[in-house]
Amino acid sequence: MEYLPVFLNLRDRLTLVVGAGAVAARKIDLLLKAQARVRVVAPTLNADVASLRDAGRIQYIAAPFAPEYFSDVAFAIAATDSTAVNQAVANAGAARGVFVNVVDETESSTAIMPAIVDRSPIVVAIGTSALSPTLARRLRAQLEAMLPERLSDLARWSGEVRERVSRALPDLNRRRRFWDQLFAGNIASAVLAGRRREADTMLDEQLRDAGGSGAVTGEVYLIGAGPGDPDLLTLRALQLLSQADVVLYDRLVSRAVLERVRRDAECVFVGKETGEPAQQQRINELLVQLARAGKRVARLKGGDPFVFGRGGEELEVLAAHEIPCIVVPGITAALGAAASASLPLTHRRLAHSVTFVSGHQAHESDSDWGFFADPRHTVVFYMGVAQLPAIVQRLRAAGAAVTHPMALIEQATLPQERVVRGRLGDIVALAAQHRIGPPALLITGDAAAFAPGEPLNGLRREDDATARAGV
Ligand code: SAH
Repeated sequence: MEYLPVFLNLRDRLTLVVGAGAVAARKIDLLLKAQARVRVVAPTLNADVASLRDAGRIQYIAAPFAPEYFSDVAFAIAATDSTAVNQAVANAGAARGVFVNVVDETESSTAIMPAIVDRSPIVVAIGTSALSPTLARRLRAQLEAMLPERLSDLARWSGEVRERVSRALPDLNRRRRFWDQLFAGNIASAVLAGRRREADTMLDEQLRDAGGSGAVTGEVYLIGAGPGDPDLLTLRALQLLSQADVVLYDRLVSRAVLERVRRDAECVFVGKETGEPAQQQRINELLVQLARAGKRVARLKGGDPFVFGRGGEELEVLAAHEIPCIVVPGITAALGAAASASLPLTHRRLAHSVTFVSGHQAHESDSDWGFFADPRHTVVFYMGVAQLPAIVQRLRAAGAAVTHPMALIEQATLPQERVVRGRLGDIVALAAQHRIGPPALLITGDAAAFAPGEPLNGLRREDDATARAGV
């Protein structure tokens, strides 16, 4: 090890920053966060540093650096753009036995600043022994994604309940096991999901039982897997997928997404044909059974669990059995498809509203087809490929023009994605010609004809009006 990582307690200690430009301002911020007193020495200062001075948060000395400014200083940072000045600061520090960080210069530094992931009170510092700051930044980005934002809350919460846990579990080994299970289980997930009150109640219950076995109850994560591209998973989905014991997944969940699941988790395919009640019943039972056995179960659904995903029904079943559940939203197919086909679902000139509809509505009477037929309203039909002729017919009957723009997007966001654009008059033929099959979405309305760079895409309202009038 080339350097010893340490965390300095600089609270109320005097620190010195030489330089007052953008780089210095960032370092000053850090020192202030660590509650240090900051003396800034520089002949001129930028606006950020000036506002800190005006707010009385730093001591500013408008002068070139001189060694005397080191008096009483515990730690110093040289952040000027002059190598000579930085070196002078390093020398002055060395003469007084004060550690000095010279920004971007390892040679003269006696301290190097790590890349930081700040979830205070938890702070992760990454050092590469000054070999590659870029690599340190990359690692930091990876850790940022891995560590939940509310890790801070979890750390604080643990501190607050610590005594209660110690009182309930005086035996050290038992207590360690309890904490281990707590951080891996539903109480921690509740805190991380911002549900502290629930966590407190569960803690009380578990402490009561833990006098006995300390057995863990399982929990379910109802996770939206997005439309297919694994990079569209949310950070929380990734965090929970990396801790689940069992994953129940649907037909629409892509293989690439499943690769992000914890290696030793058991993955169970529970794909079902739409609307098959027996299969849904089996899934419900499996969820309850696994959670009752203490497992952390990820229920992974294509898109978003609450958009044509039966997430609500599964939530009801879990609630009825008092099984804790965390719902993680996913990017629904409409949003994934719109983004990858570059079709803005609303647009100031083209569409002012958008509706997500199930294609099965083609055979129902309770939708407002007159509204759907308005080209200024975007409609996204899910599960609509088989119903395409019926949808087209209903829109036409409701007054849509034969030129009413339409787009079909198959396997959106996946490498095999295909987009077919057409009009009400030719979309059925185009779909057949290109053999469009599920999963695919139908997007209708002027937004479906959007092409950046082509103002209004040659759409002229008069044409539509003429066509709608049947001329
Ligand atoms: N809960 C899902 C929708 C489930 S319904 C979500 O929020 O996206 C299933 C329908 O979603 C399919 O019939 C299809 O219309 C649409 N769909 C899902 N993934 C898709 C994809 N990658 N590309 C196009 N359509 C998709």
